[in-house]
Formats: sequence, structure tokens, C-alpha cells
Amino acid sequence: MSKEDNKMMRCSFCGKPQNQVGRLVAGPGVCICDECIGLCVSIIEDEKGLGRRKKQQKAQPQPVILKPAEIKAGLDEYVIGQDEAKIALAVAVYNHYKRIFRQTDDSGVELQKSNVLLLGPTGTGKTLLAQTLAKMLGVPFAIADATTLTEAGYVGEDVENILLRLIQAADFDVNKAQRGIIYIDELDKIARKSENPSITRDVSGEGVQQALLKILEGTVANVPPNGGRKHPQQEFIQINTSNILFICGGAFDGIEKVIEKRVSTTTLGFSAPVRSKEQNAELLKQLVPQDLVKFGLIPELIGRLPVITSLEALDEEALVRILLEPKNSVIKQYKKLFEMDNIELEFEDGAYHEIAKLAAQRKTGARGLRGIIEDLLAKMMFEAPSDPSIERIIITAGCVNKTEQPTVIRRAAALKSGANDGKLIAEQPEMADPA
Ligand code: ADP
Repeated sequence: MSKEDNKMMRCSFCGKPQNQVGRLVAGPGVCICDECIGLCVSIIEDEKGLGRRKKQQKAQPQPVILKPAEIKAGLDEYVIGQDEAKIALAVAVYNHYKRIFRQTDDSGVELQKSNVLLLGPTGTGKTLLAQTLAKMLGVPFAIADATTLTEAGYVGEDVENILLRLIQAADFDVNKAQRGIIYIDELDKIARKSENPSITRDVSGEGVQQALLKILEGTVANVPPNGGRKHPQQEFIQINTSNILFICGGAFDGIEKVIEKRVSTTTLGFSAPVRSKEQNAELLKQLVPQDLVKFGLIPELIGRLPVITSLEALDEEALVRILLEPKNSVIKQYKKLFEMDNIELEFEDGAYHEIAKLAAQRKTGARGLRGIIEDLLAKMMFEAPSDPSIERIIITAGCVNKTEQPTVIRRAAALKSGANDGKLIAEQPEMADPA
């Protein structure tokens, strides 16, 4: 190195002499070349960018996860009673969405999915619970009937078609569908007939359970976009089912007997041929997974339904509450329909009880309520819109059991002009045989 070089100023960072760099900026006791300045600027910019990204990530709203008590309160608005099932569902759903949205740590603790099994007689609110949940959470929802499913390769519906329904409910937004809820009804109807695994293939029972098992436990499924059967040349929609919440339901008729047999040596001893509603409920509380195996579900499938809860049969009192209390109760809906024609529809208390009694006789839970009311009001719904003089229609218990006709109150103006002949406007429609 020459003396000249020694005298020359150098970049304090890279050590290059003044004559080898474009520009050298000198400060008190230090110098920096243009290249090092460029490098520093890019380091600072990178950090700023990272910070900004981090801030953006932080600013992104985390989905609000409703607390179990909030979920239950939401369900209470639409579903009457069934507190035990509501609580079990609320906790399962809370844990499910916590698992999806909040599992960010590296603790190695893997949270498993809590699919739910709802046991209970028909028309007691199983589907309604699942449906209300999905609506409350704003996630896509699909209903499937287990009895229409067959394992791949047999005549019937492929299990993947259930997923297609969910994708359709999410307007083909697969990401959204992957966080949806699927309700599978009538799971009890695909129970295998005997407890021992069959040697021959069981198309409608065990085979379907195996197919369901795959999507319940979480898999990447190939779904034909137009439904129907898969064929090799087809393009598929890929959907990961690990974050889809599956709620299965079924009446599981006779499961009480299985439980009773197991516990009969214990204190309960319900040996009476007919058990009371309370005794049945008490037995159901003692259900263990082994009872479901006895019933005909494969143990692997039960293993994928860790939350099991039961719904109670609805008595007359519960049916009256269902008529009146839900936010969109059937009675509110029919009142609204008449209100649109400026007619007030009024029910006497006795009428509600009579409707509930009829529905209870049909043994279809709350399912029968709408049909009974539809039948009761059919003629009036046909005639009243054409008669502006009608102000109010009163339905009594007698109207429900066909011994009386509805009372019609007409407007004062119509009375003056003599429009009210004092007669009841409608003949009572023939009630269909409740059976
Ligand atoms: P299932 O238990 O067979 O799935 P659903 O949930 O489909 O029965 O109930 C059928 C109809 O009966 C619902 O649409 C709803 O109107 C009414 N219903 C049943 N159970 C209840 C309930 N617990 N509270 C309010 N409505 C109910």
C-alpha cells in the first residue's frame, strides 16, 4: 500500500478507499461510502416492512369466538328446553372454533376435533339446534340424511356429496366451507344389524359408517363439482374436512333397553315394561360408548364423536312453549301472515293446549305443530284476504277439536253498512286423521 493510499479516507464500514467508491460521506471520526449507505437503507427498509406486516397482522380482526354461555343464550331464542344438549353443544362448538382460530402456539398439544352426537326422538330439535348454531356463527351449513348414503361404488349417494352440499352453501368458497357445520341425520339407521363385524360387505350399514368415518376424522376429499358419481376424467374440488364440525343425530330407538341391560344389576332396576319419561332420561344419562357399539355403530366412528348428549321427548307443556316462545314461533308466523292482510289472529289459551295435545298424540314431536295449524287455518287463509271487513279472528279450543268454528269480528264501518251478518266466515275444514 502506497503512502498516498494511506492518507486517503476510507469507508469505516467496508474499508474501501475514497478512490474506489462513488461517494464517501465523512462525519466526526467516521466515513461511509455510497454502497454501505445503500445497504444500511435496505436493512432499515426491510425492518420497517416487517414491522408494518406484523402490525397489519395484528390489526386483522380475529374472528370473534362466542363464549359457551353466549352460544347457549343464542340457542335459547329459538330452541325450547333441551338445556343439557344446548350446554354440551355450546362447549363443543366453543372448543371447536378455539381450536381452529387460536391454535397458534408450538406447545405440541394438539387439540382434537369435538364432533357431536345428539340422541333424541324425532322432532325434538336436533336439526334445529345444529341449524341455529350455524346461523348464529355465520358459517355454512348442510344437512345430510345418513340413510341415503352408500359406500362408494354402490347405488346411492356418495359420502362426498355431503361435502358438495356444504360447498354449495358456502357459494363455492372452499375456505369458508372448511369451517362449516354438517348435520348428519338418522345416524342410527346405518347401525349394523349384528354386533359382530360382518364377513360379507354391509352396503347400508358398516360400509357407510367406514366412509363417514373418513370425513369425520379429517381428510382431504375430492368432491365432484356437479355431484353424482366420481369418474376418472373429472376435475374435483379438494376440501379438507379437519375443521368441519360434524353434528350427528338419531333417535336410537331402543338404546334405553341396551343401557338398562347393562345397568340392571345396579340400583336402578327399571324392570317395568313401560318406563316413564323421567326413567328413560335417567337411563340415557348413563349412556357409555359401549352401548352404541351394542346398538351397531362401529367403535372407530363413536371415537370420532366424543361429545354425546341426549334430547328429551317433548310433552304437552313443552309443545305449548314451542308454539309461543321461539323468536320465530309458528304462532308468531301465522299471526304475521294475517297481519299482512290487516287481520288480527287471536288464539285462546285453550286452543294452544288442544293443538299441543293433538301434536303429542302424533308422536312426531314438534314436527306436527305446523301441520295442525295449517290445517286449522287453511280455509280462513283462503277466504279472509278477499274480505276487508274482517278485523279479528278468534280461535278457540273447540275450533281445534272441530266442535266450534272460529269467531270473526268485523270492522265498525263494515258493521254500519250491514256487512256483518253475524255468521262465522268459515266452515271448519276436515281435519286429517292424526295417524
Ligand atoms: P329432529 O329432532 O327430528 O331433528 P327438528 O329439529 O327437525 O327435529 O324439529 C322439527 C321442527 O319442530 C323444527 O323445525 C321446529 O320448528 C320444531 N321444534 C322441534 N323441537 C323444538 C324445540 N325444542 N324448540 C323449538 N322448536 C322445536
